[in-house]
Amino acid sequence: MQILMPPGAAAVLALLERAGYAAYVVGGCVRDSLLGLPPQDWDICSAAPPEATAALLQARGIRVLAAGLRHGTITADLGAQGRYEITTFRVDGPYADHRRPSRVDFVTDVREDLARRDFTINAMAYRPGEGLVDPFGGAAALRVGEIACVGEPAARFQEDALRILRALRFAAVYGFALSPETAAALHAQAQLLRAVAAERVREELGKLLVGPSAAAVLLAYRDVLAVPLPETAAYPAADYETAVRAALAASEPAVRMALLLRPLGPAGAEVLARLRFDRRTVERAAELLQWRDAPLEASPASARRWLARLGTEGLARLLDAESVQARAAGDAARWARCQALRQAAAAQAGACTSLRDLAVRGGDLLALGIPPGRAVGEALSALLAEVVDGSLENERGALLARAAKWIGN
Ligand code: ATP
Ligand code: MG
Repeated sequence: MQILMPPGAAAVLALLERAGYAAYVVGGCVRDSLLGLPPQDWDICSAAPPEATAALLQARGIRVLAAGLRHGTITADLGAQGRYEITTFRVDGPYADHRRPSRVDFVTDVREDLARRDFTINAMAYRPGEGLVDPFGGAAALRVGEIACVGEPAARFQEDALRILRALRFAAVYGFALSPETAAALHAQAQLLRAVAAERVREELGKLLVGPSAAAVLLAYRDVLAVPLPETAAYPAADYETAVRAALAASEPAVRMALLLRPLGPAGAEVLARLRFDRRTVERAAELLQWRDAPLEASPASARRWLARLGTEGLARLLDAESVQARAAGDAARWARCQALRQAAAAQAGACTSLRDLAVRGGDLLALGIPPGRAVGEALSALLAEVVDGSLENERGALLARAAKWIGN
């Protein structure tokens, strides 16, 4: 068995080996290589203490980033050949807060290092010449498509509760099943996820939701999702399934999350803020949730009103969300309304739907005698509303005449 690795990784391994330290590629890159998938990044582990690794690299003129030094990790920056994290073989000390070991101890045997890793499929290392090191049956688990903890699942989830979500993420991404013991421990200990920082939950959840098998995972592990998202526990079963299927059919993160939380209405946006989604995502989802029950009338004036309210992109997003939702809910009439409004909006491309498009500016209204300040903005908005409704033409003379009437001259 041979793993083809990028030249940069091979060079780092060779450098460490020549200095007398055993060195392996490890973890996700070995897993993905055995699956025939291109690894995201190549992590290296070695018997070399971090300071020795840094010295060896620097002696070769290789730039070293030492941000993770305390945990035994340094990063070699090989420029065009990429960056490689190099971690000293280590075992984790006792875990303090269901998340981080209180200390790490360096060891000399790669097998001890592999024993601290989360799942058997992630606990393999490879070294040219020696071949695959797979003490926990990771390769066999890959063949049958199984996620199993290294060691006792309950204890491993106690140590680090993020592993609960990682297990589901790998299941969703690879279409694997959890081993019965791992699944049982995961259900039993899902509450531990409350100890995990919102950012970490959000990141794992994001990767889970784009996995090809996410639907099966979210339906089978609804109780686990309900720990970070307790609001979803109140959905009736049919609504939960619709929300999941709709969310997974969406391609934009804001749309996906809005659909998952759609039964909550506008309150769903607060859930996203709590999970520390970025502001843009929260705002976009809030907009979708605000308008989720809108009738979506497809007349030309309605299309212009929607464009004025949400802009071209915002309306496209709402119609994406609502048509995906309608399809998941089996609501053919609603789906057809989405398509009709989409076409009506396309036909209004170039119509006046924002202050920018209006044929008069604030200065024109000041010249008419409208007092400076808020009144100018209000008058512009009122003119725009009439143009959008179709009761006034977007033509300078017509707009000024209309405004003149308001101020009574
Ligand atoms: P990805 O494809 O997302 O990079 P990965 O398995 O490489 O998947 P990383 O977070 O990059 O995930 O972690 C690299 C390796 O470190 C894992 O393969 C695993 O061996 C180990 N590891 C990561 N997180 C944990 C954890 N929470 N507990 C135990 N081992 C972990
Ligand atoms: Mg990785």
